[in-house]
Amino acid sequence: MKRKIHMELLIIAALAIVLTLLFALFVFYGLFQEQIIGDLREDAIAFRSMNVFADPEDLDIGSYQMEEGGLRITLVDAEGDVIFDSDANEAAMESHEDRPEVQAAFETGEGHDTRKSETLDQNSFYYAVLLDNGLVLRVAREADSIFAVTKNMLVTVAGVFVLLFIFTVVLSNYFTKSLVQPIEELAENLGDPGTKVVYKELAPFVAKIRQQHEDILKNAKMRQEFTANVSHELKTPLTAISGYAELIEHGMAGKENTERFAGEIHKNASRLLILINDIIQLSQLDGGKTDVEYTDLDLYKLAGECISMLKMNAQKQNVTMKLCGRSSMVFADKQLMEELLFNLCDNAIRYNNRGGSVTVTVDKNREGNTFLSVKDTGIGISPEHQDRIFERFYRVDKSRSKATGGTGLGLAIVKHIVAQHEASISLESEPKKGTEIVVVFSGRLKEREQQKRLEQQSAEQTKQKNTGD
Ligand code: ADP
Repeated sequence: MKRKIHMELLIIAALAIVLTLLFALFVFYGLFQEQIIGDLREDAIAFRSMNVFADPEDLDIGSYQMEEGGLRITLVDAEGDVIFDSDANEAAMESHEDRPEVQAAFETGEGHDTRKSETLDQNSFYYAVLLDNGLVLRVAREADSIFAVTKNMLVTVAGVFVLLFIFTVVLSNYFTKSLVQPIEELAENLGDPGTKVVYKELAPFVAKIRQQHEDILKNAKMRQEFTANVSHELKTPLTAISGYAELIEHGMAGKENTERFAGEIHKNASRLLILINDIIQLSQLDGGKTDVEYTDLDLYKLAGECISMLKMNAQKQNVTMKLCGRSSMVFADKQLMEELLFNLCDNAIRYNNRGGSVTVTVDKNREGNTFLSVKDTGIGISPEHQDRIFERFYRVDKSRSKATGGTGLGLAIVKHIVAQHEASISLESEPKKGTEIVVVFSGRLKEREQQKRLEQQSAEQTKQKNTGD
């Protein structure tokens, strides 16, 4: 970046210097030309007012010879014939009638012209005035052409260019450094919120990076906590299994206890399996589950199937289950929807009271979006826990959760599934009264997936076309 700014500044400076020098040269040459014409005019007018050429017959002007670089004098009569020229033999000279300065002098009294000489280096400047005797007096002088002026000044101009360029290199280096320095300082101290953002254009960029940085740290911390929790959760049933197995192994269980211990081993092993299943599920969702297959599903029908599956569990708890609403479609992954329904309904049974009820409703809301509500008449959740129950391994009543086969991961999985389907989840709960969890599905996922499929199709078509060619 530094290099680029530096280079660009130098290019701009070099261009500016060259253009300025060229411009100055043209202006200077213009003034130089004006000066010469002005001088010639003054000479011509002086001659006229002094009446030097009033009677050329009388005047011994034939003896005037032009010095090198000096003034050339020509007298032209009304026919355009040259009757005197200080530089050449007038008799051999062609008619001067068509010379622009002579023509102008005959017409208006004065005229001038500049013509290129045979050599590229010189220009001839002419000034002509009409004398009282009807002759035209023309004075002329040779001077450097712009080409010669440029050539003569080339060394000076190059010198000025080099000097200015060196000056520009130093300045541009300094400016580049002072421009980039705050950015470099910011990059070094990005993590420090006290570091001032000098350029306001960079503020959103810096805010975004800082946010990402914080998110990464938060994620890392969450993962660390999750790993610690997982280890702890796995350890408990494994310790129990190991303990009971050891007792049986050493024949310390006795015949009457062996069956009970085997039962405990079985129960803890099942617990481990459920836990590992949930962990796998969660880590798959975490990494953005890849084998999801979104289709149009009737959520009402799926809810009915889930209720049938959980009926036995509900009966054991003396909880009744009811399905309300009507057939409503969602664009979702079937397996994930089953998991979501199961987790919510299972919780509604497990955290219910004996004789309580669970009402599952699937319907369309006022906006036409399908929603799922799982409402129970159970123990409820007090407000301080309501935000946290979606966290991994967060349980309000740990012993009840464990006793009913909970892993503390069910709602974390639900939250992930909801996010993956671009749905929203809300919770309303009152201790001792019950809980209602509502998931609302939007049409966004379907739109996005359709867009993605269209893009894939057109990409494939272009690919086929290209390979076909
Ligand atoms: P668990 O496996 O412990 O049930 P979840 O993630 O499913 O884990 O739920 C987290 C916690 O939220 C539970 O331990 C429980 O305390 C609370 N909870 C979840 N659903 C309900 C409900 N329907 N009624 C009351 N409490 C609930």
